[in-house]
Amino acid sequence: MVEPAPGLAREAWLMRQPELRQDTVEGRWVLISPGRAMRPMPHDEPFLTDEGACPFCEGNEQATPPEKVAWRLPHSPADGPGWRARIVPNRYPAVVQTAIPLSGPQVAAVGTHEVVVECPGHRASSVGLGAAHWHGLMRLARDRVAGMSGDPAHGWVQLFKNAGGAAGASLLHAHMQILSVPVVPHRVESMLERARDLGHCPVCRMVEWERSEKTRMVAEEGGLVAFCPFASGFPHEVWICPVGHQSHWETTPEATLQKMADLLWRVLARLEERLGLFPHNLVWQGAPRHHPLAGHGHWMVRVLPRLNGIAGFEWGTGMLINTVPPEEAAGMLAD
Ligand SMILES: [Zn+2]
Ligand SMILES: [Zn+2]
Repeated sequence: MVEPAPGLAREAWLMRQPELRQDTVEGRWVLISPGRAMRPMPHDEPFLTDEGACPFCEGNEQATPPEKVAWRLPHSPADGPGWRARIVPNRYPAVVQTAIPLSGPQVAAVGTHEVVVECPGHRASSVGLGAAHWHGLMRLARDRVAGMSGDPAHGWVQLFKNAGGAAGASLLHAHMQILSVPVVPHRVESMLERARDLGHCPVCRMVEWERSEKTRMVAEEGGLVAFCPFASGFPHEVWICPVGHQSHWETTPEATLQKMADLLWRVLARLEERLGLFPHNLVWQGAPRHHPLAGHGHWMVRVLPRLNGIAGFEWGTGMLINTVPPEEAAGMLAD
């Protein structure tokens, strides 16, 4: 075995040494490579360039299709001002409401594609509106997703957020999206199958381990934990999930939902404080309610800062390269 760097203390070397870590939830490997953060990179991309009139601003309600549901002030009419958050059909949907049935390896992409406009004012982030706003926002999104996921016609209902151009957003005004598909996506199903095959829930096991290790914990409150997972694929990645086994975030008790909103808001506020406005995805995971293996799912919200690109190596191997060890990320986020 060759000495990696003569003269360098073992501890200092270990801090910089790249390592492979396996995510026990999906079985994928990630490459934690702190040294890569040092490489020269082109100037930072802007968060997102703002162009033209914004269809999501209060007063511009007519620029979106009629709203499906909204968090409104009393007596304010639908599709007019006086709201805190609203859900409208996506103007450029990826799926359609009705279609000609297909057979064989094709399935008509029937589903629902909606936008959750997070706030009436034109802002790139609604975090500044406070935790109470996020409680209302998450309640609105939860009700909409729960209404859809109870219908087996939706194979899977995905709530997600793309914030910033690097995370896939095309509009600056803070928003999330709900997109349902008629099939159960491979990734969602394979996580359920993996839990079944393991004979235990890998998320329960991971949460137990992270709580005992403590080095990657961000917060624990009201039966939920927030932590930077051991095999984080993204710099400053955070998972928020219940400590006890629960399969569906959208049917979790009200108190747990509020706690999730609270923790998520705090994590995002802390990240914004440290990183400024940062591109990120939020992903709500769990299990389709009608799936025979649904009980194996353990819901979570994943906060995925998009500070590094996903390029050729990642597409070729499915292995993400992360330049910020989660122990460091958690140290920055913990109280
Ligand atoms: Zn706007
Ligand atoms: Zn579990």
